[in-house]
Amino acid sequence: MSGAARERGFTARDPDYPPQFESVPCNVCGSDSFEVVFPSKREPGRAVDLATVFRSSGDEPLQDQMVRCLSCGLHYVRPRLRWDLILEGYRGGTDESFVSQVAMRERTFRRGLRQIEAAAKPTGRRVLDVGAAGGSFLAAARKRGYEPLGCEPSAWMCGFAREHYGLELHPGTIFDMPVSAGGVDLLTLWDVIEHTPDPRAVLDRAHQLLVPGGILAMSYPDYGSLVSRLMGRRWVFNLTVHLYYFDPGTMGELLRRAGFSPLRFRPYLQTLELGYVARRAAPYLGPLGRLATGGVHLLRLDRVPLQYWVGQTLVVARKE
Ligand SMILES: [Zn+2]
Repeated sequence: MSGAARERGFTARDPDYPPQFESVPCNVCGSDSFEVVFPSKREPGRAVDLATVFRSSGDEPLQDQMVRCLSCGLHYVRPRLRWDLILEGYRGGTDESFVSQVAMRERTFRRGLRQIEAAAKPTGRRVLDVGAAGGSFLAAARKRGYEPLGCEPSAWMCGFAREHYGLELHPGTIFDMPVSAGGVDLLTLWDVIEHTPDPRAVLDRAHQLLVPGGILAMSYPDYGSLVSRLMGRRWVFNLTVHLYYFDPGTMGELLRRAGFSPLRFRPYLQTLELGYVARRAAPYLGPLGRLATGGVHLLRLDRVPLQYWVGQTLVVARKE
């Protein structure tokens, strides 16, 4: 690949982009025309370490080319790693640092569930959480009287949910989930939709599994948020593990095309321990970040709960 081509990044039409990659059309409108937003940073021919990059809290800044659909405006990664390889990474993933924040996640999920119910009360109690990770949401939902069902590709996470919460998650994706059509009242995807290779197919399947009038709730980072626009390429959610970058326009369009009515978009505050946030933010902040992380530790503030918002959004929608 020539220097100029590398600077421009890989495009779908480059004959020599790595064999680990695949090119996909726009997932919302199907258009094949795009412009490059951020070029790829990858060295051609250098293999990607899937096991460490693709896990639930994978935090490598986006290495791949981000494009914008010229027809509907969706931002997405193209070309991207082949989905079978990514899924392999998630299946084999282990993640001690994710699990260390379980109490904080439960707190976040209790609030998330209240936000969903405030937007639309599900008519029944059967909840399916897709990409359930360690099961913290389902545990919070069970405490509120829901009947929990979940699927999760990582065998390690499934094991954690079993040991920590006594929850049996189905090992796999929404497409493997043994639930009959109309068997779910509330379906949730927490920080999941932007990781999936085909959000439209996921929503089609969700539509099938929900009862008529059933509720779908998803949290995702809003690419159109002020913080994203201010930070540009350095926005904390521009990550290799994120394949799609929705804003309210493209998310609304995706939902409507899959047969859902969006009811409400709201900022979605998450809670983590201060020490954890400081450690994950440090690479973005340089020497100042290292100083802050050290200070937090020195002052024994590591375990202080911190609510933070950097563009996370919760959308609640109803099946038509
Ligand atoms: Zn499009």
